[in-house]
Amino acid sequence: MFPLVWFAFFFQASQYDVVIHHARIVDGTGSPWFYADVGVRGDTIATIGDLRNETGVLDLDAHGHVLAPGFIDIHTHARRGIFLDPAAQNYIRQGVTTLMEGPDGSSPLPLAPFLEKIRTAKLAVNFGSFVGQGTLRQAVLGLENRKATPEEIEKQKALARQAMYDGAFGLSTGLFYVPGNFTPTDEVVAIAQVVGALGGIHTSHMRDEAAGVEDSVKETIRIGEEGGLPTQVTHHKIIGKANWGRSAATLELMEKARARGVDATIDAYPYTASSTSTAALFPQWSLAGGNKALLERLAAPEQRARIKAVIVERILTDRGGGDPKNVVMANCPWDPALAGKSLADITAARGHAVTVENAAETAIEIEQKQGCQAVFHAISEEDVQRILRSPLTMIASDGEVPEYGKGAPHPRSYGTFSRVLARYVRELRVLTLEDAVHKMSGYPASRLKLYDRGLIRPG
Ligand SMILES: [Zn+2]
Repeated sequence: MFPLVWFAFFFQASQYDVVIHHARIVDGTGSPWFYADVGVRGDTIATIGDLRNETGVLDLDAHGHVLAPGFIDIHTHARRGIFLDPAAQNYIRQGVTTLMEGPDGSSPLPLAPFLEKIRTAKLAVNFGSFVGQGTLRQAVLGLENRKATPEEIEKQKALARQAMYDGAFGLSTGLFYVPGNFTPTDEVVAIAQVVGALGGIHTSHMRDEAAGVEDSVKETIRIGEEGGLPTQVTHHKIIGKANWGRSAATLELMEKARARGVDATIDAYPYTASSTSTAALFPQWSLAGGNKALLERLAAPEQRARIKAVIVERILTDRGGGDPKNVVMANCPWDPALAGKSLADITAARGHAVTVENAAETAIEIEQKQGCQAVFHAISEEDVQRILRSPLTMIASDGEVPEYGKGAPHPRSYGTFSRVLARYVRELRVLTLEDAVHKMSGYPASRLKLYDRGLIRPG
C-alpha cells in the first residue's frame, strides 16, 4: 500500500497538470498581447496570472513566445481523411484543434452514426458538423432539376430537425452545386427556419461567386433574415477578372445587413486560387440526374454545343481565370499523371492548339472520364486582402485531411492558418497578430456558440 499512497500524494502536491511559464498571451479576443503564466488542470485552463512559484506535473517555459487558443476551422472537408489520419497532422501542425464538417450543402446523413464513428475514432482534434441542404434535398428528390412539392419540403424539414437533434451546428448550403442549384430560395428558407428554431446557424457556399456575386450575397442575407438564424458567406471570394474589386460592394451589403440587425458574417482563406471539381466549368442543368445523364446530353450534338458554349464562357470570364493555363488538375482518380497539369498542358499534349475552344473540348473529355479535382486561379490579391481585413471575416481553410504525397492539391489544407500569420500578419501587415488570432479562435467560437472555447480564460 505504501507506494500507492505516496504516488497519490505526489500528484496532489502539484495543483496543476501543466504550467506554461512566461508566455506572451494572444488571448483570442483581439486585445493586445500580455505576459502571463497559464496553469492547466485536466483539459481545462485553471489559472492565468503569476505562477512563478507553482509547478505542474509538466512545466514548460514559453520563453516569451506566443500562447494562443487552438484554432477553429469552420469549413473543412475532413470527413474522409480524418479516418486515414486521425491525428489530422496538416491541421494540428498549423495550430488548428477544431474542425467543422458538412459545408457547401453536403454532409453525412443521417448524422448520428457518423458522429458516433467520430466519437470513437480517437481524433487529435475536436470535430463537429453541419447538415447539408443539398444532401437533404438529394435524399428526398434525388438530383432532379425542379421545385420540391410541399410534401417533399416537409420531408426535408423532418430530416433537418433530426440532424439538429443528432448534433448538427446548423445548415450548410451549396447553391452553386447540384442539387442545391435547383433549389429556390423559398425552399431553403423553409428549412433554415427549422434549423434556426433549434439554435443552428447557416453557412453558404453561394449560388454565384462571379458575375452574380452581389445577388448571391443578398440571397445569403435573405436566408438568414427570413430563416431567423445567423448566416455566413463561406470562403468569400470574387471569381473572374471582370468581377475583381466587387468585394467592396459585397462587404458593404454585409455591413448594411448587420446595421439593420441581420447577424451576417464571413469566412475566407488566404489564396488567389480556389479548388473544386472540374464539373464547376459545366452548366448546372447539364449535371441534373447525375453522370449518366450528362453523358447522354454530351452525346446529343445540340446539347453538347450549348454545354461547350458555357464552358468557353466560364474559362473566359469565370472560374477559368481567362486562360486554360489557370485551371490546374489537383487529383484525377482515373489518370494520376494529370495532377499538376493545366487545361492548357493537357490540350497541347493531345496535339491541339491551346485555344479556349479546344480547352473546352479537353474539359468535356475529362468530365466524360468522371472529372478531376482542380485548382482555379481566378481571384485577385486585392479582393483577398480586402476580405481578410474586414472585421466580419474569420479564417477557414475549406481544406481536407489529405493523403500525403498524392496529387497536386490546393495548399489550403496545409497552409491556410500559417499563411495568414506569415504573409498577411508578419510580411504584409494586413492584419495585426491579435486580429488574426481572433479570426482563428474567439470569433469562430462565438459564431458556433462554443462560448467556453476560443479564448485563453479560466474554464
Ligand atoms: Zn465551398
